Amino acid sequence: MTTLNTITVVGASLAGLRAVQTLRGAGFAGEIVVVGAERHLPYNRPPLSKSMLRGDDEITLPGAEELGDRWLRGRNAVRLDTAGRLVTLDDGTQVRYDGLVIATGARPRPLPDALEGVHTLRTVEDALALRAELAAGHRRVVVVGGGFIGGEVASTARSLGLAVTLVDAAPYPMSGVLGDLASRWLAGHHRSNGVDLVPGRRVTGLEGAGRVSGVRLDDGRTLPADLVIAATGVVPETGWLRGSGLTLDDGVVCDAALFAAGADGVVAAGDVARWPHARYGGASVRVEHWANANEQGAAAALNLLAGREDATPYAGLPAFATHVHGVRVQTAGLPHLADEARVAAGDPEEGRFAVAFARAGTLVGVVGVDAPRDFVRIKRAVAAGDPLESVLAASMG
Ligand SMILES: Cc1cc2nc3c(=O)[nH]c(=O)nc-3n(C[C@H](O)[C@H](O)[C@H](O)COP(=O)(O)OP(=O)(O)OC[C@H]3O[C@@H](n4cnc5c(N)ncnc54)[C@H](O)[C@@H]3O)c2cc1C
Repeated sequence: MTTLNTITVVGASLAGLRAVQTLRGAGFAGEIVVVGAERHLPYNRPPLSKSMLRGDDEITLPGAEELGDRWLRGRNAVRLDTAGRLVTLDDGTQVRYDGLVIATGARPRPLPDALEGVHTLRTVEDALALRAELAAGHRRVVVVGGGFIGGEVASTARSLGLAVTLVDAAPYPMSGVLGDLASRWLAGHHRSNGVDLVPGRRVTGLEGAGRVSGVRLDDGRTLPADLVIAATGVVPETGWLRGSGLTLDDGVVCDAALFAAGADGVVAAGDVARWPHARYGGASVRVEHWANANEQGAAAALNLLAGREDATPYAGLPAFATHVHGVRVQTAGLPHLADEARVAAGDPEEGRFAVAFARAGTLVGVVGVDAPRDFVRIKRAVAAGDPLESVLAASMG
């Protein structure tokens, strides 16, 4: 086994930072080199689609100053040579490593046409640019994509008094994540908060000369628009790994302990990592949530130090919350794996409820809408792998 004298971390955001802190916390005394495309201290992305759009600049990520003095800021890794254990940067610098942590996250999928007034949202610069546009009083805002970022931006734009149309390919927004019941509720929630929801439609192109003036849909309609936010999901940042010998398939394919397939001494963590989830029978997953990047950065670093033989599988329970028009929607586990969904508390008609999801009778996930206590109770049962019946019985007791 190679002795780890130098560990290189590529990606200086949440997962990368947690990896660095964990390496130091575990007593790693060798050199840590950090390569990060962004120039800022690592920051929290969740506020970018929420409070920051309303004027609050608080995005501090605790521990951000701990990246160390070998932090190469504003530098992109462009190539990985796994045989020579070398990372090449965009200025030609070569960084060698004995162990490598890949934490390059993901980037927004853009719309096909680039016009002024069309935005995506991933970085603090994106958020500031969008905030300025929202404040400029554009009257017709079209949000493309009803996932958590699209939903939050739509909600913020409504709270600023703007007219918002939300276009989503699914019949109900977030149905793949929240299941049928909660996504139907979400559609109604958007509408009752003044969002003009256009479900089941795809965007085929944009109109405008210089600045956007319309969004073309696959039913032939054109929605008038002077501000468009493309929130159609993200793609993992793996372009720099092409030709490296690592297995890439919508992310860096890893084993259960986050070691990348195709090379030795390489782990991946956060939005970029795909791994077989031990809790779900080895289902291959990639999770785009804050808590996942936070935990995986640490877990991947510890496994890198331990070595493949002594590594621990990562099987954290995915969990996520979004805020839409003042209501908190929480998910835990992987509801999309379920073959059965039951309301386990509250009532969707009243806008406060929790849905439990099970596969072959065993809990695999939960969604809570404005029901934090029930959500936490059922989440514990999901984490324990309890039967669906146990949470239904408890809710009646
Ligand atoms: C607007 C927004 C709102 C969100 N809200 C929530 C929420 O409410 N709840 C929740 O759970 N999650 C939320 N998320 C998701 C959460 O922020 C991500 O899961 C988390 O940031 C992932 O961390 P990461 O370190 O894996 O990747 P990232 O945060 O994407 O960081 C990757 C870093 O790597 C850098 N990089 C990329 N390629 C290279 C390269 N080749 N060389 C060097 N550096 C590179 C990038 O510039 C970036 O700094 C939100 C995300 C966004 C964008």
